[in-house]
Amino acid sequence: MKSITTAQSKTQLKINGDRLNQSIARLAQIGKLPDGGVKRIAYSKEDVAARKLVTDWMLKAQMEVRVDTAGNIIGRYLGKNPALSAIATGSHIDTVPCGGHYDGAYGVLAGLEVVRVLQENKIRLDRSLEVIVFTDEEGTMIGSKAISGRVIGDPGYYRRPDGTDIYTCLERIGGDWQKIAQARRSEQDIAAFVELHVEQGPVLESMHKQIGVVEGIVGQRRFNISVKGSANHAGTTPMQMRCDALVAAAQVVLAVNQIGNTPGQQVATVGKMQVLPNAANVVPGWVEMSLDIRDLSSLHIDSLLEQLRSHLEEIAIATHTQIRLHPCLHNEPALAEPSIQKAIARSCEKLNLNYTYLPSRASHDAQEMAQITDMGMIFVPSTQGVSHDASEYTSPEQCTQGANVLLMSLMQLAKIH
Ligand SMILES: [Zn+2]
Repeated sequence: MKSITTAQSKTQLKINGDRLNQSIARLAQIGKLPDGGVKRIAYSKEDVAARKLVTDWMLKAQMEVRVDTAGNIIGRYLGKNPALSAIATGSHIDTVPCGGHYDGAYGVLAGLEVVRVLQENKIRLDRSLEVIVFTDEEGTMIGSKAISGRVIGDPGYYRRPDGTDIYTCLERIGGDWQKIAQARRSEQDIAAFVELHVEQGPVLESMHKQIGVVEGIVGQRRFNISVKGSANHAGTTPMQMRCDALVAAAQVVLAVNQIGNTPGQQVATVGKMQVLPNAANVVPGWVEMSLDIRDLSSLHIDSLLEQLRSHLEEIAIATHTQIRLHPCLHNEPALAEPSIQKAIARSCEKLNLNYTYLPSRASHDAQEMAQITDMGMIFVPSTQGVSHDASEYTSPEQCTQGANVLLMSLMQLAKIH
């Protein structure tokens, strides 16, 4: 009889929503801006203060806390069998220069709240549970890249915009550049990683869904597109004798928009353009622009790029220009593990929350964790899809719902079958 009661109380276990939302509000005090936003740049004194606060909270929740050589804070709530590989969650507490209260901080504090509620109910899971605060997500993602073993060897790459070198930065938060390789982890000690995050987009809100089960983080390719025409006098060059690079470029922008709008979940954008010589009385001779294209499937991106290339050839012939694509960024998609997606969906069903599957089109530490272990992500709605801004908002109720899904999912994953 006793064991049945225990089992029931476990399935009904809920996080403390008030405590979670108070913690989010308390952390947002550190680096608070006059407009209500938050500025907590990685390695700044605000970041250091926030790290101290979260560490104190972890210790109070009876976690073992350490800082690895990449400065990641790793809080561990011991399981019944500490020798088993752990289940990990977490996110980041650094922000962009004018960030909001939820991006990153929510995932860390929800992970902490999961441990708080387990600890006060004296529940030990089979596996240990880790809550990780990753270093500098908004800048270089050095924390999660160190865990996946993909840090770039050149320290110059990690120099801050203000000129501070990475040795000094990591020292400030308890890391050590010389030993950064030691931060690497593997599937042998992390069996799965689940990140809870605000969507930072409008999809869940527009579909009236409470939870997003993330299918993966999209792959991203970036190119420079150059268009070579010939510059000439805007008065004396007859229309039919022009090689106008900007007229060709305008058609390229439309072609990119067109492949973005074909059936599928891809997005494609020209966000940057430079015109030479950029003068009112000269037919443009040269244009450079960016192309950013993202999708969950690399094969689909390849086929869209193939279509785009043949379209660009037609434009080049029709406009008497040369159009070239120069690759400058190639990130492969990071797919979420189907069994973790199922565990998250099952949790939503048990909690009576409506959910949908969707890709993440923004980068997250979870994409690095996917390199070493099974990965999953949970999204909650962002009001009007706004993020990286003081007006970023997810209601206390929505924050509580997402954290309950996290609790239930982690409990499933930490169970030995
Ligand atoms: Zn984030």
